[in-house]
Amino acid sequence: MKQETIQTDVLVVGGGGAASRAAYEAKRFDPAGLDVTVALEGPWGKCGSTVWVASEALGINAPLNAAGDGDSPEVFLDDILETGLGLASRSLAEKIAFESSDRISELIELGVEFDSADEKIRQRKLSGCTKARSLSQGGQTGVAIVSALKRASLEKGVNVLEGIRIVDLILKDGEVWGARGLKQGEQIDILAKAVILANGGAGAIFPHNINHSSLRGDGYSMAYRAGALLTNMEFIQIGPGVVFPKMHFIIHSHMWRFSPCLKNSLGKEFLDDYLPAGISRDEVLSLKAMSFPFSVRTNARYVDISISKEIMSGRGTEHGGVFFDVTHVPEGELKDKAPITYDTFLKRGINLCSDRIEIAPLVQSFNGGIKIDEDAATTVPGLFAVGEVSGGVHGADRPGGNNLADCQVFGYRGGRAAAALAADRAWKAKEAIQDDKLIVMENSKKIAPIRNAIDRALMVVRQKEDIEELLDKIQSLRHETPTLDVVTDNVLLTAEMVARSALLRQESRGVHYREDFPDSDPELTKSSLVNKGKEGEVKAFFE
Ligand SMILES: Cc1cc2nc3c(=O)[nH]c(=O)nc-3n(C[C@H](O)[C@H](O)[C@H](O)COP(=O)(O)OP(=O)(O)OC[C@H]3O[C@@H](n4cnc5c(N)ncnc54)[C@H](O)[C@@H]3O)c2cc1C
Repeated sequence: MKQETIQTDVLVVGGGGAASRAAYEAKRFDPAGLDVTVALEGPWGKCGSTVWVASEALGINAPLNAAGDGDSPEVFLDDILETGLGLASRSLAEKIAFESSDRISELIELGVEFDSADEKIRQRKLSGCTKARSLSQGGQTGVAIVSALKRASLEKGVNVLEGIRIVDLILKDGEVWGARGLKQGEQIDILAKAVILANGGAGAIFPHNINHSSLRGDGYSMAYRAGALLTNMEFIQIGPGVVFPKMHFIIHSHMWRFSPCLKNSLGKEFLDDYLPAGISRDEVLSLKAMSFPFSVRTNARYVDISISKEIMSGRGTEHGGVFFDVTHVPEGELKDKAPITYDTFLKRGINLCSDRIEIAPLVQSFNGGIKIDEDAATTVPGLFAVGEVSGGVHGADRPGGNNLADCQVFGYRGGRAAAALAADRAWKAKEAIQDDKLIVMENSKKIAPIRNAIDRALMVVRQKEDIEELLDKIQSLRHETPTLDVVTDNVLLTAEMVARSALLRQESRGVHYREDFPDSDPELTKSSLVNKGKEGEVKAFFE
């Protein structure tokens, strides 16, 4: 394999909302005429969750109080802590609550136009929020944010390296001095005084996901190998999305208010079978309209649990879902209440007035990740993490609209802190940093059975036997393959970190549901942590 080495001051890995903000801030802050480089797998603005248009509306939270309902940073902070069920870091949550409004103002100055009515920004109330706080530009919010930040970054002279998959970090004496990636079969080592990981989550390691294919947990795994601490890895946001026709779209909001008929492959309507006495179908469906991701926090959970159990019990459709039918709803109402959804399906040849679709729980985003402090610094010197790859900001659950806010607030903080570090840090002699380590590429095809086990063990309904079976499969593959390539290792490590954290947490809390421990345990109001143990094992433990 050919090998090339390049050099920059601040390396930003990724091209979503978090990376775009971090690169812009590192260059804007620019204490010493720094060289800032964005390296990402696809084209900037075309890959990752931020620019993934798959819903009626993509929301970003800030307590602007445009609705005049008494919102404030203090109320926002209470909502984050309450929804996080004791596991969101207060000091990180404070930054989102008190700084998101400033970040929104800057985005508006950079040209982002949020939806408005009567010349007033429109704010909507999303799940986990007591006030109307989410801004959007329909489903295009993330596209608008990334476009504006990318344009501003390029104007300031940020360098771009597209088409490179960063798979490992360059380490010397326990400190990070760059990252290593693959581009068209060539290995590229990028030496940097500060590295900001902003490469998103790991939904794509699950067969059932609504993520861009580049989100395979490379960030979590390379940080772990470098010795970083990760936190809350068991908390993954999973919600219903379309599995047939083949398209990327989630089922949320009004689609649940239409009182859909849910049927399994035997043609049986099943939701009522899962409802405890005293809880009605109408109640759970109207709650589901408020909260797309599954969470045991609300009774909307019965919708996701019923769908999951039907599929896991072998009564799913041939595409691995259940039938979702709103053909009883008049066309005018569908067009009026869910216009983007209606049109999106129509473009795929599906008329929701006459055709049913198939849906299943799909992984949307990770709540946990690489543990950071208020400046987005990780526990490894030289390494920062922002956006979905980072952890601690969100707890066992999060208010809808907070991920995009997290990306802006910590992208800002991490970009500036990394620039400050890079300005201060003298290069070590190149020879001292560089090593000749080559990335081995040979066995990534062996991963298919593991991915199926990941789906079985770590989706909505979790239990000990399935998680242990997944861990056994991971160990067997490692045992059979002594020289595991780094790409496969990254998938296995991420899966193992989630699995060990999920096994450790013997309770149900927020988005983590253990069928064998269905209740919440007050003793476990503490975050899980993962790092590399003394024997090189993946070690999960409580804070
Ligand atoms: C369908 C859907 C709806 C959502 N709705 C909302 C919502 O309404 N409100 C909200 O707040 N959040 C929402 N989220 C979550 C939110 O979109 C994400 O958490 C957030 O956009 C993550 O931003 P990010 O910049 O951290 O990562 P991303 O936007 O995912 O960007 C990651 C970038 O890193 C690149 N990358 C990945 N791996 C590598 C690698 N190894 N090397 C180089 N580059 C790499 C990717 O290609 C991409 O460019 C939604 C997510 C989905 C999928």
